[in-house]
Amino acid sequence: MTSQLKDKPQKTTRPTLHTGNFIAGRWVEGEGPTTRRLLNPANITEQVAAVREASLEQVDEACTTAAAAFPGWRATPAPDRARFLFRFRELIEKHFEDIAQLIVRENGKLLSEARGDLRRGLDVVEFACGISTLLMGKTLPEIARNVDSHVALEPVGVVAGIPPFNFPAMIPLWMMPIAVACGNCFILKPAEKAPLTGSRLVELFAEAGLPEGVVGVIQGGKEVSEKLITHPQVQAISFVGSSAVAEAVYSLGTKHGKRVQALGGAKNHLIVLPDADLPRSVPALIGATFGCAGQRCLAGSVLTAVGDKAQQDAVVSAFLDGAKALKLGDGLDESATLCPVLSTEQKQRILAGIERGVQEGAKLLLDGRNATAPSHPHGCFVGATVFDDVQPDMFIAREEIFGPVVSVLRAKDLDEAITLANAGRYGNSVSLFTKSGAAAKEFRMRIQAGMLGLNLGVPAPMAFFSFGGWKNSFYGDLNAHGPDAVAFYTKKKVVTERWFGAEAPKEGWV
Ligand code: NAD
Repeated sequence: MTSQLKDKPQKTTRPTLHTGNFIAGRWVEGEGPTTRRLLNPANITEQVAAVREASLEQVDEACTTAAAAFPGWRATPAPDRARFLFRFRELIEKHFEDIAQLIVRENGKLLSEARGDLRRGLDVVEFACGISTLLMGKTLPEIARNVDSHVALEPVGVVAGIPPFNFPAMIPLWMMPIAVACGNCFILKPAEKAPLTGSRLVELFAEAGLPEGVVGVIQGGKEVSEKLITHPQVQAISFVGSSAVAEAVYSLGTKHGKRVQALGGAKNHLIVLPDADLPRSVPALIGATFGCAGQRCLAGSVLTAVGDKAQQDAVVSAFLDGAKALKLGDGLDESATLCPVLSTEQKQRILAGIERGVQEGAKLLLDGRNATAPSHPHGCFVGATVFDDVQPDMFIAREEIFGPVVSVLRAKDLDEAITLANAGRYGNSVSLFTKSGAAAKEFRMRIQAGMLGLNLGVPAPMAFFSFGGWKNSFYGDLNAHGPDAVAFYTKKKVVTERWFGAEAPKEGWV
């Protein structure tokens, strides 16, 4: 995920904290009714920032400014637009380490994970640098005698981006670079739970020289989002978050005639067959389940051990050993291997999920509820938690907990494991661990999910592929980044043309 070459430590300065709104090329304080305090997840006695949300009038102003900037930006040739992307890319590289530290401060994840978060977002910026090639339409000369046809991709107008808290750099960067490269104006409404990094990225994009109004930032939560989604000047909405909100955003947006892509939550299964290379698979399983404290839409949260009882036990025991070895700590502590969760609210939600598993009768093999990081007594820590004897209809087997909590299911064979994975309402990702090509083929053919992994736990498609799930993990038609994003941020125009006087002679041109 992270490039050894590029991610070597840089000298860092204290990161800029952008808490305002970026409207018409200026940072302005919010004028809305709510101010949210952001606390350091590793130490809630430390306030990182306070962010006052935008007023609805400010949302309106941002949309109007973006709409006013659109004709000029749309008329800017694609190769010229790409140059802003190249400059943006250089600015992110220049400030890479500062931004990674900012991600740790507001989200709590480990610094290595924060670097990965930014690096994966940067991949999308690099993809968008190739916009001239990506926007090439198709042509067919002579669709009829002396008639040519070609299709052109044109920007849709003003696009709003509404990301979640868990990837403060990557997810805004799934949206903004491609939307802008395609010729759209873009307004980011960062997650109110982690708004600083996205705001900083918009600042850098503007610093790359973008004309006023091409990018904007609006701070806020549900009310501000809804104002953006229904605003007459906004043509498309890119949303990533929980399924309940994704569904609501999709429904509200489409009702108002908007184009919407809404990526939702997940309950991802990791299936381990008896022939898997266990020593080499366990680090991948641990990374997938406990990386970012399980706060990833591609986090594995169900571990399905396949085989007879002894084979299942071998998987569970190796996994448990890996989980027990994790060390909780501040994201900036290089020896830590399990980061805090975002906030006290998230911690309470996760603890309630664990409690539900206990109530339903699952067996707690590893209980992280009282785990602490001694050097950080005021951190939002939840230790690695593993349930065994989980039944498929239990809450902890079906629903997203979004924390370092794993439910073990047991299956006698691959057929049963696939049936269990397909039974859920989500369809984001599923991974299989095996040495068998035949099992892999059956898995590929039968699994009902958008992103599959073979012998790796986090099968995140790279920027040049598209990213998205099935079922309740996705609402819409076109996925995030890659070719789908170019299609999402553009409209097709088919031109059919005939030029009188240029007719080919009956015997042909040659
Ligand atoms: P969330 O749904 O609470 O919030 C996401 C965004 O929606 C935020 O910007 C928030 O301000 C906004 N919002 C909240 N309520 C809204 C409403 N009623 N109408 C419009 N906008 C509203 O999600 P979260 O807690 O920030 O993030 C975690 C969730 O995101 C998890 O469910 C996770 O699986 C999901 N996620 C999915 C993907 C994916 O690719 N499918 C990626 C990352 C995270």
